[in-house]
Amino acid sequence: MTDNDDILDPTTAAFWKAAADGKLVVQRCAACGHSQLYPRPFCLACDSTDLTWAETPGLGTVYSCVTVHLPVRADLPPPYSVGLVELDEGPRLLAAVPDDAAIGDRVAARWQPGDGGARPVLSFAAVGSLANAAEVVS
Ligand SMILES: [Zn+2]
Repeated sequence: MTDNDDILDPTTAAFWKAAADGKLVVQRCAACGHSQLYPRPFCLACDSTDLTWAETPGLGTVYSCVTVHLPVRADLPPPYSVGLVELDEGPRLLAAVPDDAAIGDRVAARWQPGDGGARPVLSFAAVGSLANAAEVVS
């Protein structure tokens, strides 16, 4: 199995296609308006299967964050910071955040291309440090 195998999953395909284009999308329920991530085949709020995709500006607030000091992967040397970011649309995402991030900070999503054709990687930067909130960094 490679990193790209799950892109073929029909539930997540639209999310990864948008990511490849530098866009962050959330699932939105047409029945009740609830937004959710990760993608699922039904709405967590009302169980409807009438879900659509909505592009977001990628803006959010740091809900929680931590600095990792132990090595986990050879290609990810510590220290680095990881945060749970609550998007303005509601869903919370776990991703890299600035080293000086604190709870309550405003951040903006950005996608970076994955190494060797792997999936794009989401991270968050301090608001104001990017010209376009969901830009792809090449
Ligand atoms: Zn719903």
